Amino acid sequence: MNPSVKKELDILIRLQETETRAQELRAAIKDVEMRQLQLEEVLNSERLQLEERESALMKLKKQYTGFEEDLRYNEERLKKSEQTLRTVTNNRDYQVLLREMDDNRKANSRIQEAMVALIDELTSMEISVTEIQGRVDEEARRVEEQKAELLTSCTRERDSLASLEEERRSLGNLASARLMKLFDQAIRLGGGIGVSCVRGNICKGCFMKLPPQFCIELQRGNEISRCPRCNRIVYWDDI
Ligand SMILES: [Zn+2]
Repeated sequence: MNPSVKKELDILIRLQETETRAQELRAAIKDVEMRQLQLEEVLNSERLQLEERESALMKLKKQYTGFEEDLRYNEERLKKSEQTLRTVTNNRDYQVLLREMDDNRKANSRIQEAMVALIDELTSMEISVTEIQGRVDEEARRVEEQKAELLTSCTRERDSLASLEEERRSLGNLASARLMKLFDQAIRLGGGIGVSCVRGNICKGCFMKLPPQFCIELQRGNEISRCPRCNRIVYWDDI
């Protein structure tokens, strides 16, 4: 084999190794980021549920306060009516006032019934809000722990990726601009695998059987060759 071709091939093979490893790391980092997002999504949906319950609880409380106000207002009116009753001389006015007071008392008892029912609803809503709040707090703690763990593993992968990029730069310094261009193009066209071995006349990039004459030339190694099927840079693997 031509020694300069051998040297170039060695660089190309090592470049491909760094590229493959870098792709794995990038995928792993992306996976971690996705998992973080999923964790946050679960927590957010629970927080949303909590907010909905809290606003429902607030509405019920407002309704209850409204009933209290109505009750006070009616009681005031009753008191005033009782005072007026003492001063009424006309029988017709007296009867009208009595009816009005009766209506007021009936209204108040309806309000009180509604308040009793509302108290039950309020109590169970308060219990439910406390339960969800507890669950959200616990979930938030768990998410924080998991995110910290993910961040640690991600840091390791980011460090490895940085050293691979450094390695690629040093390999790039060893190679000619022509060779790097060839490699980059092969990587792009080969969907991340630009350099592949040929074993038993089969290109391991596209898994196609290659013509015997091509394989003979490849074994001679007088030049950098590309697979006639997939166009990847290929080398003869005699292991
Ligand atoms: Zn091929």
